[in-house]
This record gives sequence, structure tokens and C-alpha cells, in this order.
Amino acid sequence: MPKLNICAFRELSAEQRLSAKIAIVANPDPAELMALPNLQWVQSLWAGVERLLTEVPQSDLKIVRMNDPQLAASMAEAVLAWSLYLHRDMPMYKKQQNAKIWKQHTTPLTAERTIGILGLGSLGLCAANRLSVNGFSVFGWSRSEVRLEGIKTFNGQAGLHALLSHTDILVILLPLTKATNRLLNEQTLALLPCGASVINFARGPILNETALINHLDSGHLAHAVLDVFCEEPLSENNPLWTHPDVTVLPHISARTNKITASKIASDNISSFLQTGEIPQSVSRKHGY
Ligand code: NAP
Repeated sequence: MPKLNICAFRELSAEQRLSAKIAIVANPDPAELMALPNLQWVQSLWAGVERLLTEVPQSDLKIVRMNDPQLAASMAEAVLAWSLYLHRDMPMYKKQQNAKIWKQHTTPLTAERTIGILGLGSLGLCAANRLSVNGFSVFGWSRSEVRLEGIKTFNGQAGLHALLSHTDILVILLPLTKATNRLLNEQTLALLPCGASVINFARGPILNETALINHLDSGHLAHAVLDVFCEEPLSENNPLWTHPDVTVLPHISARTNKITASKIASDNISSFLQTGEIPQSVSRKHGY
């Protein structure tokens, strides 16, 4: 955007801080945004904006999150890859290899494996379709009621319980809000069938890590693939690093693509400058 004056926060003069209208951010220190008192809206380069919603006190500041089809495609690829990893019992064969055990097990058909996805937004829906195309039985849960071809959908508390009780592989793709914080806890994890696995690609606090470890240690759950944690980066003494039934990923399941995200941000800004209309922003009421 060569005609615009785009500056790094640390290079802004006191006068520029007062005149800045739009901030382009990636999980910023909320204090930096508060130092820009005349901002009209914020373009986030991340899809998850819970920190901006909870830590920036200007309640009228509009937050536009990154809604990029490339990000959704990347997440769907990650969900498919790790679902296949669990579906083909890779964690068990790795343990067998470590113990030099040559033992064959039957793999169910993909149609016999139910994958439950929590969150059917930009990312969850794309992942659900990718899994469905690959033959899995796919269930999805969202806040509002939705009908989707080839995907059995649920909503509400009763819907969550029904989905969990039929899920072999649980994929978490919800935003972190007051309603989803620790949604997966001792009680809800207990609803999963024995031998189920969990993939958390959304936000760490949605899944109670102590409850997860308890369910893995008791043998109720088989494995967890975690890309997000309550504490990031994970501290050296965190038990998840060395747990035999946990795969730790460093928040890489779907990273913002610089080329496609820049185009989306610049289109949003150009449209605002032409029309004065702020692009669709997140709902403060719902927290996403
Ligand atoms: P989104 O488009 O806003 O979709 C959110 C979905 O969750 C919607 O289907 C929504 O239901 C559902 N939902 C929200 N609150 C709910 C509740 N209380 N009960 C039931 N369903 C609820 O978000 P998205 O773009 O798919 O992204 C999801 C999250 O993924 C982000 O917030 C971010 O934290 C995370 N993320 C992680 C990575 C990574 O690399 N690990 C990368 C990108 C994003 P409705 O359809 O009814 O609104």
C-alpha cells in the first residue's frame, strides 16, 4: 500500500500515535494499542483475538480478525494429517517399535471412525469437509443450529454430550471465550468412549490439561495431539513434554500466510478508506 503511511509502533512519533486510525497487529501487547487513543479499528493477522477482547479496555474499538481461506485450508490439512496419524494407530506402533514388538492390529475403515469437531466456523467447517471427503464419519458442534451435507451437527449442552459420547477422535477448533474456557474438563472428557483421542488446535485453556493427563493416565483416553497450551512456550518442566501419550506441537497447525494475509488486510483497509465502513468485526457479546 505505497500511498499509505504504515509505521512500526516503536517508530511512531507522539503526533503519529494520536493520528493513527488503524492498527495491524499479531497478538500484540494490549498496552501498545492503548497508546493509540484515536484508533478506529484493528486488523488482526491472527484468527484468534481473545487477548484483544479481554485485555484492551476500549470496549468500542472494533477488532477485525484474520479470516483467510488459506489459513482454513492449512488447518484442514493439519487436522487431516493428525487424524490419520491417530486413525492408523501411529502412537501405538511407535511404542511397539520402541519395545521391538512385531504385532499386527486391525485398522477400522475410515467410515467406522467418528471424528467430532467442536467449532464449525471458518476453520472447523473446512476441516470437517476435508475429513468427510476422506471417508470419515464426521460430527460437528456449534453455538447456533446449522445443517450441513454429510456432517451430523449438534448444538447446546445436550448436543455436546451426544457428540462426545460417539466420538473416537475429538478435534477442538473453538475460539477461547468465557463459555469455552475449560469446556473439556474431567466430566466432559469422561463422556468420550474408552480409547478415544483428542486433538487441540484451538487454544490451550479450552482443555483442562490436568484432567486430560488424568484421563490418559487412567487409560480412558489413548492419545492427545496438542498444538496449543495454557502456557506458551511450554516450560521445560511441564509434564506434557514427556508424557508417553501426548504429541507436543509448537503452535504450528495453521500459521498466517504472509502473502494471502497481507492481501486480505490491504483489501480490508482499502475498502474502509473508500467507503468508511469498518469490515465485519468480532462480537464482544459472544467473545469471538
Ligand atoms: P470462527 O469462524 O469464529 O468459528 C468459531 C466456531 O465455534 C463457530 O462455529 C461457533 O459457533 C463455535 N462456537 C463459539 N462459541 C461456542 C460455544 N460457546 N458453543 C458452541 N460453539 C461455539 O473461528 P475460526 O476462524 O474457525 O477459528 C477458531 C479458533 O481457532 C480461533 O479462535 C483460534 O483461537 C484458533 N486458531 C488456532 C490456530 C493454530 O495455529 N493453532 C490458527 C488459527 C486459529 P457458530 O457457528 O454458531 O457461531
